[in-house]
Amino acid sequence: MNSNDTEINESATHLLGLQGVGVIGVEEREDGVRVVHVVTTDPGARACPVCGVFASARKQRALTRPRHLPCGGRPVEIQWHKSRWRCGESACPRGTFTEQIPQVPARMRVSSDLRREAGAAVCDGGRTVVQAGRDLGLSWPIVQQALLVYAAEVLDETPAPTEAIGIDETRRGKPVWKQNPATGKWELVADAWHIGFVDAVGGRGLFGQVEGRNAASVADWLTFQPEQWKAQVKYVAIDLCATFRAAVRRALPEAVVVVDAFHVVQLAQRHLADLRRRLTWKQHGRRARKGDPVYTVRKLLRRNKEDLTPEPLALLYGELTLMGTYGKQILAGWKAKELLRDLLHLAAKHTHIHPAPSAISGALHRFNAHIADHAHLPELVTLAETVEQWWDGIHAYITTGITNAASEGNNRVIKLEARNAFGFRNRANQRLRSRCATTRRGRREPLPA
Ligand SMILES: [Zn+2]
Repeated sequence: MNSNDTEINESATHLLGLQGVGVIGVEEREDGVRVVHVVTTDPGARACPVCGVFASARKQRALTRPRHLPCGGRPVEIQWHKSRWRCGESACPRGTFTEQIPQVPARMRVSSDLRREAGAAVCDGGRTVVQAGRDLGLSWPIVQQALLVYAAEVLDETPAPTEAIGIDETRRGKPVWKQNPATGKWELVADAWHIGFVDAVGGRGLFGQVEGRNAASVADWLTFQPEQWKAQVKYVAIDLCATFRAAVRRALPEAVVVVDAFHVVQLAQRHLADLRRRLTWKQHGRRARKGDPVYTVRKLLRRNKEDLTPEPLALLYGELTLMGTYGKQILAGWKAKELLRDLLHLAAKHTHIHPAPSAISGALHRFNAHIADHAHLPELVTLAETVEQWWDGIHAYITTGITNAASEGNNRVIKLEARNAFGFRNRANQRLRSRCATTRRGRREPLPA
């Protein structure tokens, strides 16, 4: 069969959508598979791939079965009746060649449309490589390769411009411990972490990930970004991590470090819990148990004052007062946490109404004065010291309202992606899939300016 002596069915050709070939017949095999017979229509297919001269002497006929997109929701088997040509150019080293078209280059058994579809199913559709392979009838390595090609095309090499980025770390998989046969001690043999760089304000997801937990890995990633991009990053949101702060100062000296407020409150909660446990031991010589006033209120201490109605608030005060001196000290710890929250609550929200400097200094003074009144409580002193050490970053949060919430959201997406894939064995693959997953929304929808 050949395009010269067989009639091409134009409608069926259009339906198949494989550029460069024409459909000459469709049959339904006994096993229910539809077989589509096609011939080459692309005149370029007869050009010698080495010298480019059009061949006229056919050597023999050949049949290949390239894979292509399903038709009408069902897979089709394509039988491509093509020719092997003898190159007519005497000076050409190439003796013979088979026809090829851009959609199905020589030695390729899967059309570029199908490969693109497979890559998109994983990168944009959020399917696993295994699932996409099953849906499209392709093997794992082919889908994985298709994903790499597709991702390189759609994921930006350079991060999108944004005035604020967030940096934080996530654990990759579970830490692995092994007993050292020589010493009998348990040692941490595998504990991989990924540090993620995200768009903190624009919703464009993950810009990149690096392995490790040290300043060098953070600084390296930042340093390697284009100068133009680095110059427009004004803020970098991080948690209370001195390593990240040092790295940002080194790589982006002009950027303002913003401390994530959530982590500051979390720290205050931790110090309050330490204080409560220490004083409970002093009071009872044991952990709190049912019936102790401190046991009754231990959960109320974690709550924010605005969430406490008068009744539980009265209970909190009543029970702790009943406990005597130690109870009053625990109450002082709770007040310290709440005064710190008052300070953080001044933060500029989306309104761009910046808090007055006097309001900030007033709230900071109330917090510090309260700690000074309870300087005998080491947990509170440590909290105040941390606030002082990180004051620039906390102040930047209060005046800008920028948080690392985007990182937290991305981390959830990344963990889900890893769970779907039953864990990643290959870390580079995990980083790629994480970027696909977290940038999905931003790539699909136009983002607010
Ligand atoms: Zn040739």
